[in-house]
Amino acid sequence: MPRLRCERCQRPLDHCLCSLIPALESRTRVILLQHPSEISHALNTARLAALGLNNAELRVGEVFDDLSELLATPGYRPALLFPGDDAQELLAYGETDDKPLLLIVPDGTWRKARKLLYLNPLLEALPRVTLGAVAPSRYRLRKAPQAGALSTIEAVVGALNALEQPACFDALLAPFEALIEGQIRAMGVETFQRNHGEG
Ligand SMILES: [Zn+2]
Repeated sequence: MPRLRCERCQRPLDHCLCSLIPALESRTRVILLQHPSEISHALNTARLAALGLNNAELRVGEVFDDLSELLATPGYRPALLFPGDDAQELLAYGETDDKPLLLIVPDGTWRKARKLLYLNPLLEALPRVTLGAVAPSRYRLRKAPQAGALSTIEAVVGALNALEQPACFDALLAPFEALIEGQIRAMGVETFQRNHGEG
């Protein structure tokens, strides 16, 4: 019999993380795009990021039909958080920045994120932004295909901390850290690595 799950955080009820999920305000609007195959991943950090930010939204899909409307959200300028030759390092908003970013964040592995861009040419055309030097991932148990790669929630926190400094969004990581610690305790490190080592 499947365990009952919390409808909000999708964790088993006895491991519900909702009490740790903050409700942070940000100028930046964060749109997380998730491939359907990532929903059931044990560490769905995109969902935790969307729940913890008041100005954020999680979209699940492969082809996003309403993307042009989404990207035209009034009051924001869209940018894609993804590496690229012309990607700009995220810096703090200046006095001349009249519009904050509509930050589009592809979730999942690099391979899945690239596929998402391929299937949604409007994303491919967006200006790209990346994080500058950031602390190494605390997501130490999920093998990163590239050195310095972060989980989705860590990337969002890094982006918001850079853009909106001195505001700090580290509180967003609280449920993520509890999730990782809890999983290690529950399964034992070896089992965890075996089950979640693939990206
Ligand atoms: Zn919950």
